Amino acid sequence: MKTALFLATAISVFFLGCQSSASNSSHPVSDSSSVVLLPETTTPAPDKAPEPATAAEILAKKEVPVLCYHQVRDYTPNDSKTARPYIVPVNVFREQMQALADSGYQTILPDQLYDYLVYGKSLPEKPVLITFDDTRLDQYTAALPALEQHSFKAAFYIMTVSLGRPGYMSREQVAELDKKGHSIGSHTWDHQNVKKYEDKDWVTQIEKPSKQLQEITGKPTEYFAYPFGLWNQAALPELKKRGIKMAFQLADKADPSDPLHTIRRIIVPGSMSGISMLKAMRNSF
Ligand SMILES: [Zn+2]
Repeated sequence: MKTALFLATAISVFFLGCQSSASNSSHPVSDSSSVVLLPETTTPAPDKAPEPATAAEILAKKEVPVLCYHQVRDYTPNDSKTARPYIVPVNVFREQMQALADSGYQTILPDQLYDYLVYGKSLPEKPVLITFDDTRLDQYTAALPALEQHSFKAAFYIMTVSLGRPGYMSREQVAELDKKGHSIGSHTWDHQNVKKYEDKDWVTQIEKPSKQLQEITGKPTEYFAYPFGLWNQAALPELKKRGIKMAFQLADKADPSDPLHTIRRIIVPGSMSGISMLKAMRNSF
């Protein structure tokens, strides 16, 4: 008898407890959490993975300008004519970044580009993706401060053989770029042409570098830049199979069946003023 009474009391207390939290008339208006507790009038649809865009849909989208840099440093007398387009003097780089900022461009990262292309997520009104290839130390010492001046973020494509070598970034510097919110991707182990890979090369040039970069950043390596911008059909499934979601070439046409692994970029040479760079961006994308 005693037990039954106890149970009845316990049940009524429990019930009252529920009731008092469900009907909130006595709660102060400022308690916004009470709004959440009110019963829903409609049942929300269960979360469904959004349908990814087809290749044709991706190609039909407005292209986002992607810029490609290699070295940000002043010229030396040893720089050959063929090397010069890959070198942007520090003051020119600053001017180019200033031109982007003045024109209202906002940098985006590969994750955002992917979500825009595949899932239709929105981007800033004037998006630009800035990328750096080859792991050069000046990207850290000279380009990074210029990027930071405008709160710009960039993507760095690392060839892992060069990590820690003189003139190149160290693992710690790459880790720091990642911590600062920049994107770290792969640029192979030692910059061999992807078109020439045979079986074991996919391990040496793609799998191992991806793993090493993941050890540095703690994140999967999902983005890749082709050495020399060169790619072929055979490379596309090989990259996909190894977890590469997007790969960056240079200015050739995107592949009609796999635009995500043939994203176009333009090289910005040191001979371009900020204004002429903006013009080149508008012409190419
Ligand atoms: Zn390269």
